[in-house]
Amino acid sequence: MQNRINRIKSYIIKSSHTDNKEVNRLMETWLEKFGTSILTIIFLIVLSEIIYGLIINIAGIEDKSWSEYMIFYVVKPGLTSIAMLIFWRIVVKRVKSYYFKAMATMFTLYGAFAAIVVANFDRVVFQPIVIVPMFICLIYEDKIIFNSTMILALTTHIASIIVIRLEHTSAQLPEFFAESSILSIIVIIIAAAFARLLLNFEIKKRKIESDEYISNVRLKNEVFYDELTRIYNYAGFKKNLGEQLANYRDGLDSMYLAILDIDYFKKVNDTYGHDMGNIVLRRLGSILLENENKSIIAARFGGEEFAILFLNMDTQDIVARLKFLADRFRSSKFEGIEKPITLSGGLAKYELGDSEESLFKKADKELYRAKNAGRDRVFSACDI
Ligand code: GH3
Ligand code: MG
Ligand code: MG
Repeated sequence: MQNRINRIKSYIIKSSHTDNKEVNRLMETWLEKFGTSILTIIFLIVLSEIIYGLIINIAGIEDKSWSEYMIFYVVKPGLTSIAMLIFWRIVVKRVKSYYFKAMATMFTLYGAFAAIVVANFDRVVFQPIVIVPMFICLIYEDKIIFNSTMILALTTHIASIIVIRLEHTSAQLPEFFAESSILSIIVIIIAAAFARLLLNFEIKKRKIESDEYISNVRLKNEVFYDELTRIYNYAGFKKNLGEQLANYRDGLDSMYLAILDIDYFKKVNDTYGHDMGNIVLRRLGSILLENENKSIIAARFGGEEFAILFLNMDTQDIVARLKFLADRFRSSKFEGIEKPITLSGGLAKYELGDSEESLFKKADKELYRAKNAGRDRVFSACDI
């Protein structure tokens, strides 16, 4: 069990895949922004290509014709990038999976950038662009997405080098093409190692933050639960009761309070020891816990006194449920104890005008009557 919890925990930490609607919405907005940013980048690159082309054409430096230049530097990379962007749009809109969306985003980036790199094979200045997506993907704080992006970076870059090599004769290639290609792969690996450091730092930071959050939530809730039985304690019960009373609508809602008390519990402790007493308490707690639902809220008030709040249930059903609970407790077997252990209870209905105190008082009075009548029974202040 502990292993399973650890595995689930490490999965949560490893992957930022989240059901948090707020985070998912943030990702969606980011993806939208990403689309427009890429379009802007492509537009700026293509625009600068056109301006650059114009300048060198006027100066007569370029050996390609104007149309050749346009096809090579503007049309080809521009169209490839736009095709990638359309592909990305479709995937992001159609696919629900977080991972598919993330991977499509990274794939689009590489497709668009690779097209620019291939077109500008003779301009080394464009080469470092391939490390950009590796840093962008850190936003996901996810090792799977990071590793896949790293592999994409290397494969698209190597593929770009191969395409450049195949599309050009040795004479067309820039000087030291092989050497600079190897160097660029090394640069990608170094950048990946650096990005990985950042990623690990972010993941560790998130783990610390989430651990702190979990322990805060636990601490907050611990105040409302009984340590021995794991059902609500007095404070937890009062909190529930207060919430119910605040939303109580006369005529629409009904509310009953039962107080239960184990019979001759002091004797159980005195005869069989405090530990055995705790086992008995835990047993009653687990019977109540098993029977809890939206309409039945149980609590241990401390000592051997328990309470149940019944919400919007018929009186008959409540009485039947109380009898069922008392029977189950009476038939519980405890090692070394021959005689059955029983409980007594008092039931009261919340009436308009009742306060928490008056409701408790009514139920307590019934409990007192049940004790006096010989115990092992539940008395009710309401008509059945
Ligand atoms: P009655 O039938 O009238 O309810 O008699 P009783 O003996 O159950 O009632 P009493 O109030 O005299 O005794 C309650 C006992 O519950 C006294 C105390 O030692 C014991 N008790 C209270 N808290 C705990 C606990 O956490 N663990 C154990 N084992 N005993 C507890
Ligand atoms: Mg008792
Ligand atoms: Mg008592």
